[in-house]
Amino acid sequence: MWESRKPPISFKSQPKWVGSFCYLYNMKRVFLYVWQLPQNVLAIVLIGVYSLILGSPERTEYKGIRYRWFKGWKFGISLGYYVILGDFARDRLDIINHEYGHTRQSVCLGPLYLIVIGLPSCLFKAWDRLFHTPERGWTPEKAYRWYFSLPWERWADKVGGVVRV
Ligand SMILES: [Zn+2]
Repeated sequence: MWESRKPPISFKSQPKWVGSFCYLYNMKRVFLYVWQLPQNVLAIVLIGVYSLILGSPERTEYKGIRYRWFKGWKFGISLGYYVILGDFARDRLDIINHEYGHTRQSVCLGPLYLIVIGLPSCLFKAWDRLFHTPERGWTPEKAYRWYFSLPWERWADKVGGVVRV
């Protein structure tokens, strides 16, 4: 026999502010997602393309950001609510927090993020790879220090809570 019972949790018994808070929290998340739409869309496209080439990534979440870990990939990219990383960085809290710092910059800059952070990041990374070679007297350590002294990288370290010694 079927018997109508009250569900064990009654949502009506919650104080009104809980519902309002959830609503505002969701509105904030939706607003911030749209505010960072160019980088969020780019992230979804890149994750799709990399999934086809490298296979499905492992998915984790850290401080509200979706981390996607690709096997054998050597880079790290932060785009809106997504961080795309190679599995080499799985235990590297400095890299995880540095990329998280870039996601905070994305919240600050919104639609300007790709121009202010993304573009110079790509250009200077390419410069680093091309010209900071041992033949030109660059050790990996010197190149590393040069790269993380760039203003937008220092900013990402600062807001991500990364201290480099
Ligand atoms: Zn960076």
